Amino acid sequence: MTAPRVEVDLDAITANTRTLLDRLAPIGIRVTGVTKAALGSPDIAAAMEAGGVAALGDSRVDNLRRLRDDGPGLPLTLVRSPMRSQAAAVVGVAGVSLNSEAVVLGALAAAARDRGIHHAALLMVELGDLREGVPAADLIDLARHVLTQPGLRLAGIGTNLACQAGATPDQAKMDELSLLADRVEATLGTHIEIVSGGNSANLDWALSTGDPGRVNDLRLGESILLGTEPLRRRSIAGLRTDAFELVAEVIEVQTKPAQPWGDIAQAAFGPAAKRMGTGSIRQAIVALGRQDADPADLMPPTGITVLGMSSDHLVLDVSDRDVEVGQELTFQPGYSSLVRAMTSPYVSQIFAGRR
Ligand SMILES: *Cc1c(COP(=O)(O)O)cnc(C)c1O
Repeated sequence: MTAPRVEVDLDAITANTRTLLDRLAPIGIRVTGVTKAALGSPDIAAAMEAGGVAALGDSRVDNLRRLRDDGPGLPLTLVRSPMRSQAAAVVGVAGVSLNSEAVVLGALAAAARDRGIHHAALLMVELGDLREGVPAADLIDLARHVLTQPGLRLAGIGTNLACQAGATPDQAKMDELSLLADRVEATLGTHIEIVSGGNSANLDWALSTGDPGRVNDLRLGESILLGTEPLRRRSIAGLRTDAFELVAEVIEVQTKPAQPWGDIAQAAFGPAAKRMGTGSIRQAIVALGRQDADPADLMPPTGITVLGMSSDHLVLDVSDRDVEVGQELTFQPGYSSLVRAMTSPYVSQIFAGRR
C-alpha cells in the first residue's frame, strides 16, 4: 500500500445510510444517495445501496456514467442543471435531472424525443441561498413549460440551501416549499410526486421537525459519507465519522525556529498563517499538498498541528509526538479535503468492508 491514499470503510457508509434512512422513513422522507464527493464511485454507491437508498444522485455526467456502467443499478438523478450542450448525454444516463432553465428543458425534451423516451425534470426553486433555482413566482410557468413539452415528465420540485450563502433550511422554508407544491398542483391540475427539500444541511430540521409537510426526499452526500452535517460541521449522533482516512508519508523531520526570518512577503497561497510561539519546534513535512487536501479541513493525529500547506508540502508541528521520516500519518478529511483527495490523481483509494 502506497501513500498517499484514502482508506474507505464501506461498512461505515452502509451503516450511516441505514441509520439515516431508519430515522427519515417514519416521517415519509426517502433518500437519494449523492456520490459526487467520491466521483461516482461504484463501490461507495453499492455501500449506499446496501444501506437502503432507492436512488443515486451525482452532479456530473461522467460520474453518472460510472454509476450506470459499474454501480448497483439504481435510478440515477443529475443533481446539477444539465449543460445545454450535454442534453443528449444527460437523457441517456439519468432518468431525472434538477432544472431551472427553460432553454435547457427544451434541449432535454428534444433529446428525449430523439431516443423515444421520457426524461423527468425536478424543478428547482430559489429560497434564499442564492445558488440554483427560479424565483418562487416563476415556478408555475416553468412547470407549465415542462407539462407542454413532449418528451418531458414533471418529476417534482426541489430546493437547495446552505451551499452558497449558508441560508439555513428551516421550518419556514420547508413550509414554503410544501405550499409551492400545493400551488403548482392546484393551478396546473397535475400531481407533484417528489418534493426534494435539500441536502445534508436539512437534517437538523428533518430529524427534529414534527411536520415535514410535503417534503418527501432529501439528497444526502456528506452526512452519509462523513457522518457530519454541513451547517456547523458537527457530527450527527449515531453516525460513524471514520469512513474515510487520508494516509500520507513523512518526508522530513527537523528542529526549526518557531518563527520565519528575513523580510516576510506572501507565501505560495497568499499571506501565510501566523506561526505561534518562540524558540524552536520539531517540524515535519508530509508528502501531501493542496492538490490532494485542504489544510483548513484536515484533522491531524492528536498532538500534531497543521502549520501550513503548499501545492505539495504539508507542514506540521510535531513537537509533542515522536515522528520519523518514512512514517505514515493518518488524517481525518472534512468534506473539502475529501473532495480533493478523491479527485487527486496522486491519491490512491483502498476499500475495506463488504463489497
Ligand atoms: C451536492 C449536492 C447535494 C448533496 O449535498 P451534501 O451536503 O453532500 O449532502 C444535494 N443537492 C445538490 C443540488 C447538490 O449539489
